[in-house]
Amino acid sequence: MKKREYSKEELEQMELMRHSASHVLAAAVIKYFEKEGEIVKLGIGPAIEHGFYYDFDLPRKLTNEDLPEIERIMEEIKEAGESFEHRMLSKEDAVNMLTERGQLYKVELANDLEDNELSFYKSGVIDDLCRGPHVADTSKIGAFKLTSIAGAYWRGDEKRPMLTRIYGVAFPTPEELKEHLDWLEEAKARDHRKLSKELDLFMFSKFGPGFAFRLPKGEKLWQLMVNYWRQMHEDAGYVEINTPIMLKKELWEKSGHLKNYAEKMYFAKTGDDEDFSYCIKPMNCPGGILVYKNSLKSYRDLPLRVGELGLVHRYESSGEMSGLLRVRQFTQDDAHIYMTEGQMKDELKKVLELTAKIYQDYQLEIDHIELCTKPEKSIGSDEQWALAEKVLEEVLEESGIEYQINPGDGAFYGPKIDFHLSDSIGKTWQCGTVQLDFAQPDNFELEYVSESGERKRPVMIHRVIYGGIERFIAIILENFAGKFPMWLSPVQIKIIPITRKHQKYANDVAEKLKEAGLRVQVDKREERMQAKIRDAQMEKINYMLIVGDKEMEHGGVAVRSRDEKDLGLMKTEDFIAKAQGEVENKE
Ligand SMILES: [Zn+2]
Ligand SMILES: [Zn+2]
Repeated sequence: MKKREYSKEELEQMELMRHSASHVLAAAVIKYFEKEGEIVKLGIGPAIEHGFYYDFDLPRKLTNEDLPEIERIMEEIKEAGESFEHRMLSKEDAVNMLTERGQLYKVELANDLEDNELSFYKSGVIDDLCRGPHVADTSKIGAFKLTSIAGAYWRGDEKRPMLTRIYGVAFPTPEELKEHLDWLEEAKARDHRKLSKELDLFMFSKFGPGFAFRLPKGEKLWQLMVNYWRQMHEDAGYVEINTPIMLKKELWEKSGHLKNYAEKMYFAKTGDDEDFSYCIKPMNCPGGILVYKNSLKSYRDLPLRVGELGLVHRYESSGEMSGLLRVRQFTQDDAHIYMTEGQMKDELKKVLELTAKIYQDYQLEIDHIELCTKPEKSIGSDEQWALAEKVLEEVLEESGIEYQINPGDGAFYGPKIDFHLSDSIGKTWQCGTVQLDFAQPDNFELEYVSESGERKRPVMIHRVIYGGIERFIAIILENFAGKFPMWLSPVQIKIIPITRKHQKYANDVAEKLKEAGLRVQVDKREERMQAKIRDAQMEKINYMLIVGDKEMEHGGVAVRSRDEKDLGLMKTEDFIAKAQGEVENKE
């Protein structure tokens, strides 16, 4: 069930319509509270992907029960076909008018605008400070539905008032709206927070906001992903290191992190420190660089590909946290590649290939690739930045990879290539990144001895493929809807003895499966068989093996796949071969 694709023109048209729908929502909320004799203070109301929202300061809390009536009023306004009338007001008149109406938030917005004349659009009861444009009249806003209510701080600032945000979706036709609502249902069923709980993979605690705890099955999944990663990297000529989780402040001063990244860092002090003297690492690079400097390198050592599954901490604002998707403590599947300038392009191409292969094994598609250029805060010279950006561009072009430019979104030490993936229902995720860096090697005076015996400076690649492993797990959970393929399933097989007297046989079968390297559990509970099957299906176990008299007699197992397919009686050996094949082939 993929999302429908729209052309750029269609999307622009929809944006107009969705933005106009946000005015209609505001008008409806004003009317709704008029009945109660209350006034509504308006925040902002933009179009967003699939729909729109509007922020309100309301006289009382709204619940989902209020939405149908607000929606009904919106329909009325739509049917009335009220036009959007534009006019310009001097800033002074605008501020006076908004102040008189008690629209404090709009007054603040008006005051912040630098123009002398401000643009207003009037439609029915609503007369809004807005640049426009809109559809001709409210009858053109298409099919819509209000979907949810959330709290949102005014201007995203935790110190400002919390407003009520009403979200809606809008599409040109009722069919497209229905399609989208069905898609949302599907996406909800795949929500990784829900699945992680149902499958017993991770937990969170108020004592570690944004820190994921791995439960036994989550840890198993983790290990499977890491084993796979290690094999892929060993095959690609990487070595692996591990560096300390915190290092002295002076290192982070030198690396530029304290100047460019401090707002996202955690700090630590020892018992007799006045101030902090250690920084908990938000990135693995400085530690990795110390390892490089541990011994003198020669051109023969290059390219040197050094992987590190590094545990990092980043203080994301609490508004940005969302289950495993945005955590404050995570393990990056990092690697730093040190190389000569002549090796840059080859190495970058190899990284792009390895990345694509790994995504393919997880059944994720590359949606698009971005080239992110020099940000506001940066280290290194303009020449280095220009060269690094040029090399990345050439590598993408030579590899025949289409890309778009994302200006100013590079890392502070170099430009990067970002991978955006799309999952089985067309949701997109930013994932791996490849950064080319001339600045840190300079900064840390990295060297190698060239063929002619001179000291030269290497160039560095920083790259992650999973990104944060926690986040990648969220992505694959949603991609597979929790139904992991055999090679990734924490528990692949559940053996269900029909009665207590089949228990021993069940244990024997389990032993054989374990010896064959399969992950198996026996359901020993005194439950009815149907209940055990249902529970195994809920746990999304790949195969259930039911054993009773008939199976014992034939030395076999009755096989059921989790999608309720009855595969009949199989010899235990045959089932083992089938299961191993699926693991092997990553089916
Ligand atoms: Zn508008
Ligand atoms: Zn790095």
